Amino acid sequence: MDASPFRGVVACLATMHGKQWALRAPLRRRLGMGLRVAPVDTDALGTFTGEVPRPGSARETVVRKARLGMAVTGSPVGLASEGAFGPHPAAPWMPADVEYVACVDDRSGLTVVESAVSLETNHAHLTTDGRDRRAVLAFLRRVGFPHHAVVVRPVAGPGRPEKGLRRLADVLDAVARASAGGAAVLAADLRAHVNPTRMRVIAAAGQRLARRLATACPACAAPGFGPVGAEGGLPCGDCGTPTGHDALLIRGCVRCPHRSRHPVHGVADPGACPRCNP
Ligand SMILES: [Zn+2]
Ligand SMILES: [Zn+2]
Repeated sequence: MDASPFRGVVACLATMHGKQWALRAPLRRRLGMGLRVAPVDTDALGTFTGEVPRPGSARETVVRKARLGMAVTGSPVGLASEGAFGPHPAAPWMPADVEYVACVDDRSGLTVVESAVSLETNHAHLTTDGRDRRAVLAFLRRVGFPHHAVVVRPVAGPGRPEKGLRRLADVLDAVARASAGGAAVLAADLRAHVNPTRMRVIAAAGQRLARRLATACPACAAPGFGPVGAEGGLPCGDCGTPTGHDALLIRGCVRCPHRSRHPVHGVADPGACPRCNP
């Protein structure tokens, strides 16, 4: 632990949304790394509410965000986080929140991205003209309002979204304004500082990043040894036919070609089998 190459380092964290609350503790505890907030306009790289489309994947964006903070602060070590809401990677019929956290270290040329997946998300929306008050209240309950804020925007037209709403009167006023020419969309505000459910997943991703940065490559001792890929082919539990589920996890070094292969024990559900469930 005292050999941590991050001990005493103060990394910049590019965020406008309070992500230091989720990331500071695990990085300090495991690595002795401090955080300084770089107040960069991360919305320039895309917003959940769609005013700015996100170019590229979340994995690319999170590294770009970290670099943005490094450019603004001049810090050689940068961190950032980025979330993606969509189908669960292993169970596409379930909605999930995937949170990516990146560490870019220009002292050693290291870039590590870790992620955490959670099925617990309040990602949801309701189209309403505001007249069905009960539907609005039921929706607010469902997304954990007022601990979680909401966003209101017109279904169509140029109106900008009103974000961070946490008072019922404000929500109802915003819905009335946004639905003046038709209907409004009421949605969970997914920004981390007003969405504690998401903040918890970011904290889990931060713990994985800290653990990974604390893991040295067995061959060259570079930090950041960890998962780099997987191979499918886990046998079906009924007939033994190889399925698409991971049979082998591959860990690798970010600096040297060293790889280690770890077989997954167990069998796959026949539901995932091309022969039992074609
Ligand atoms: Zn190595
Ligand atoms: Zn089978």
